[in-house]
Amino acid sequence: MTLTPPTLAPLSGPLPEELLSRMRAWRHDIHTHPETAFTEHRTSRLAAQALANMGLEVRQGLAATGVVGTLRRGTGPTIGLRADLDALDMHELGDAPHRSAIHGKMHGCGHDGHTAMLLGAAQYLSQDESFSGTVHFIFQPAEENEGGGRVMVEAGLFEQFPCDAVFALHNSPNLPLGTFSTRTGTMTSNSDTFEIAIVGKGSHAAQPEAGIDPIVVSSQLVAALQAIVSRNVSAVDSLIVSVTQIHGGDTWNVIPEEVVLRGTCRSFRASTRTRAEARIRAVCDGIATASGAKIELRYFAGYPACVNTTREMELAASAARRVVGAQHVDTNCLPRTGSEDFAFMLEQCPGAYVFLGAAREGDNPPLHNPYYDFNDEILPLGAAYWIELVRLILKPAL
Ligand SMILES: [Zn+2]
Ligand SMILES: [Zn+2]
Repeated sequence: MTLTPPTLAPLSGPLPEELLSRMRAWRHDIHTHPETAFTEHRTSRLAAQALANMGLEVRQGLAATGVVGTLRRGTGPTIGLRADLDALDMHELGDAPHRSAIHGKMHGCGHDGHTAMLLGAAQYLSQDESFSGTVHFIFQPAEENEGGGRVMVEAGLFEQFPCDAVFALHNSPNLPLGTFSTRTGTMTSNSDTFEIAIVGKGSHAAQPEAGIDPIVVSSQLVAALQAIVSRNVSAVDSLIVSVTQIHGGDTWNVIPEEVVLRGTCRSFRASTRTRAEARIRAVCDGIATASGAKIELRYFAGYPACVNTTREMELAASAARRVVGAQHVDTNCLPRTGSEDFAFMLEQCPGAYVFLGAAREGDNPPLHNPYYDFNDEILPLGAAYWIELVRLILKPAL
């Protein structure tokens, strides 16, 4: 069966041209002025001013640069729609007219587009009478690395803005343009990091018997850590243990005193996450005993998995079908081994996370690539998705 490509005008009706050009203008403005973790002052002000101009109640300064705009329309449920404000510490190599004006910072993950689409939806809904209830438009800082979603939750996001459900969207250049992908349960992985310090006994390289060689120990460790994946986790579950750094030694004829390994663990289930840490610790202890080296493990819990609740995932899929048609909505996509700090909001509140396909013809740089630029063609689809989700959940009472 060949699928007809999705139309880039929402099936539910085209958005006004004036709104589309305003979303493009917001997106390009934010792209030119990228800001990273908790310093998104300009971007935060832009969002807050736009929301205030629409007549929404606006709260600034939640988790430093977080913004919440609230739209109340009669009685009904309350939902939260979340976008992320932050850019990445990387240098943009593309030559778009709106390319980054700040050396070493870049919107390489499309959060500029996420913010523009959610502002576009807020603008449209601020003049729309076809729903009844409350929408909190949540703009969070520091999605990349620093866990702004966690900080917002800890700062009282859901106490101050209680939500019956919360939703988020991420663009995806590796999915076909104008398709939505989601699933019940785990969407993204638990993401942890670790550091292992191996202290041996330095010696002359010609007399290894006089020392304890931390380079040999580190090699044993790297191999043994991979056996956790193949021997301690079920074949129908998943775990990644990647050692990404090995630091040790300065010259040819000296066995060093110390080697440091660093890496990351990705898993989908909480029990697998716990088991991975316990097994890494046991492997370190065992190899320390066998070798005589001191091995110290530091394990850092990062982002938990994003877990979609069934009812909210189905509502999200229904809204997406209204925008692009059922044949372009995948409700059983594979989970991703990347991570996403919207997970901290999903730990507190039912909700769903979806990917919106944004592949370009020809050269199609992935997220976090220096040539990546958010694909403006999905602006109307993302905004229409938010609008349809609100209309679907906040149906006016008959
Ligand atoms: Zn990213
Ligand atoms: Zn991102």
